Amino acid sequence: MPSETIKLTAKFKLKNPPEGLDDLFSVYREIVNFLITHAYESNITSFKRLKKEKYEELRKEYPELPSHYHYTACQMASSIYKNYRKRKRRGKANGKPVFKKDTIMLDDHLFKLYLEKGIIKLSTPSERIPLEFHPAEYHEKFKGWKVGQAWLVRTLKGVFINVVFSKEVEMKEPEAFVGVDLNENNVTLSLPNGEFVQIITHEREIRTGYFVKRRRIQKKIRAGKRRKALLEKYGERERNRLTDLYHKLANKIVELAEKYGGIALEDLTEIRDSIRYSAEVNGRLHRWSFRKLQSIIEYKAKLKGVRVVFVNPAHTSSLCPVCGGKLSPNGRRVLKCECGFEADRDVVGSWNIRLRALKMWGVSVPPESPPMKTGGGKPTRYEINTLHTING
Ligand SMILES: [Zn+2]
Repeated sequence: MPSETIKLTAKFKLKNPPEGLDDLFSVYREIVNFLITHAYESNITSFKRLKKEKYEELRKEYPELPSHYHYTACQMASSIYKNYRKRKRRGKANGKPVFKKDTIMLDDHLFKLYLEKGIIKLSTPSERIPLEFHPAEYHEKFKGWKVGQAWLVRTLKGVFINVVFSKEVEMKEPEAFVGVDLNENNVTLSLPNGEFVQIITHEREIRTGYFVKRRRIQKKIRAGKRRKALLEKYGERERNRLTDLYHKLANKIVELAEKYGGIALEDLTEIRDSIRYSAEVNGRLHRWSFRKLQSIIEYKAKLKGVRVVFVNPAHTSSLCPVCGGKLSPNGRRVLKCECGFEADRDVVGSWNIRLRALKMWGVSVPPESPPMKTGGGKPTRYEINTLHTING
């Protein structure tokens, strides 16, 4: 069976970060900046070359620091300089690149995670120190996963170690696909058995609510630290709330798709996104949303061995799933085709997405059930908050 790798990052918040970490952060920053300067002056984007030219020098300069810190500093510096060069080409960077963050990249020589004991052992100049972290419920699911690299990060909220976990999963051969049409306020699914399911998300209301809140803050409070902090607070709340919603939604989608082994999503290229959403006040956040939701669906599906495919999104909601002809409106919610096909507007998109996935996957497309007149092709609606059926 073919397998795929899933990578996820988990955050571990440290309980009592030792004071010695301050020094570690500043020494590491010093080293990264030293390397960036060298990369900048000699135009080096290759990690290997940067390491070859400066690693030994750094080891002599900072003999007390475990050598792998120099190693990861070279990795960070080369990628920071590479990004800087990219931004510079697009005219988005000037001056010399500087690294200002409290961030340290850790490889497997520098830390060891003891998930069950609730500690992470970290190599420091003096010794290997055990750091206690606040356990979170979601940490449980990483038991048995492979531990990759990590980042030691200090933010206003505390000191964290963000660990990348990976897992190999066996992918089943999909028998059929569930077509998923993501919309701003609902998600519609086309199931291989001919049924349609629509989940009402209320995402637009949530978004509008936060938009109004932000506007109010901007009107009431003068520009400054307090305003910035408040805006950030609500921005984070909104993202958290949407992320919660997406997890719920993705769980439901994967649950419905599990027995078929396949999920089809639209391949939302930048071009289409901007056409669809540039006019919206929340356009930028919305693009963030779609990608976020898709990536959650993708990894949750993979964890169950369910394949996710991305199909061309062009005209999925305006062409006839049966003959490919152009659909025209027939009443408020209904679309019809010259071939006799007729269906609820809401279901057409997910229907086409499902059929495109079958074609893409090389599954011979079974003839669709005869054109539906009234009654057929109406989605069963669920409320995301309750996931109770409200009609149907
Ligand atoms: Zn047709």
